[in-house]
Amino acid sequence: MRKIVILGSTGSIGVQALDVLRGLPDYRVTALTAGRNIPLLLKQIAEFQPELVSVARAEDMAEIKKEFPDPEVYSGADGLLRAATAESDIVLAAVGGMSCLVPVLEAIKLKKDIALANKEILAAAGELIIPLVEKYGVKLRPVDSEHSAIMQSCPPAVDPRGHFIYPHAQINKLILTASGGAFRDTDPRQLDSKKAADALKHPSWRMGAKITIDSATLVNKGLEVIEAHWLFGLPYEQIEVLIHPQSIVHSLVEYRDGSVLAQLGMPDMRLPIQYALTYPERLPGRAPALDLLQVKNLSFSQPDLVNFRGLQLAYTAGQAGGTMPAVFNAANEEAVRLFCADKIKFTEIPQLIELAMQEHRVVSAPALEDILAAEEWAKEFVRKGLKCPIVR
Ligand code: NDP
Ligand code: MG
Repeated sequence: MRKIVILGSTGSIGVQALDVLRGLPDYRVTALTAGRNIPLLLKQIAEFQPELVSVARAEDMAEIKKEFPDPEVYSGADGLLRAATAESDIVLAAVGGMSCLVPVLEAIKLKKDIALANKEILAAAGELIIPLVEKYGVKLRPVDSEHSAIMQSCPPAVDPRGHFIYPHAQINKLILTASGGAFRDTDPRQLDSKKAADALKHPSWRMGAKITIDSATLVNKGLEVIEAHWLFGLPYEQIEVLIHPQSIVHSLVEYRDGSVLAQLGMPDMRLPIQYALTYPERLPGRAPALDLLQVKNLSFSQPDLVNFRGLQLAYTAGQAGGTMPAVFNAANEEAVRLFCADKIKFTEIPQLIELAMQEHRVVSAPALEDILAAEEWAKEFVRKGLKCPIVR
């Protein structure tokens, strides 16, 4: 019996993870956490009967306790931390943003494996997370489809302490595929007039709002480049991105001898979620089978780094290291929030990220406090930039 904690059970990944778990009788959910979607959480509690539940707001606790007297109920940052450190073998980190950084760090210290959906924490704080993963012998199991594809295309060995070791010396490069997002076929001159509702129309994946906007700017792919650097331990020069509109080839590994291995599948997150939970086993899945005769064509092209500058900025941030990736991530998060509130244009998202990166003084070998401070600074910078206004 494997015990699973789900941080973010009411989100896009959380809901799909629970669907995967419906098909895995040997897995039990020990804790569920949600933000504000209490009606959905109540249904999940009834079905999965966790021992611990946490919600974002303290005022929502009473409603849960009234319907379900058995599980322990908590709220806020403390609740998320309690869930991450509750009894389990694997913690699925599927709350967006930085709020699950500390809970994940503490779960690692308790030697719990992490199924990592949240790419922001690894991009912003890889310098903290990876040494802990190695120290405590924890398996960092990628949920992001591209990173799952890479893991499947270059299966890791397991170090005696228990963490993954990838065959670096045999690899020429990793190739991450990108759908290209909602505006991949848009005339760049029209990007200025695009609204959040347009950016939310993703051509192949159904995901939470923030990551869907990030896909449209290619910032999502940028975060994934940094995520790949930390997960697989390769330098940025060995990580490339190709646009692949069909979202069937989820990523590729080119080996030294020229051989290229890839993982293919339908664009359905239940597949990488399940593999993250069941690794190294493969169990019958719930995602539809791939029919290449239906797909017919697989095409690839170079990303447009001029009109979708977010991707290039991620490479710059990753290479600068220290607190710079945290600034890249936080400036983006704040800019996306402003874009969704119709306060800035789509094209101002990368502009604000770039200005924040230009102004930031990097702290090398950052401690947790440095990363959190850089995060706060970047958000404030973007908010002030809007008022000044530095980009208009
Ligand atoms: P969603 O926005 O759909 O879900 C986020 C989840 O976090 C919800 O359960 C939400 O609760 C919860 N939450 C939000 N704020 C808080 C808070 N303050 N305290 C506790 N819980 C909170 O996001 P996604 O599922 O799309 O993405 C989650 C993560 O996975 C992101 O980091 C994303 O980058 C990553 N990811 C997502 C993919 C996808 O296909 N969706 C693919 C690859 C990675 P509620 O809804 O109840 O308010
Ligand atoms: Mg992805």
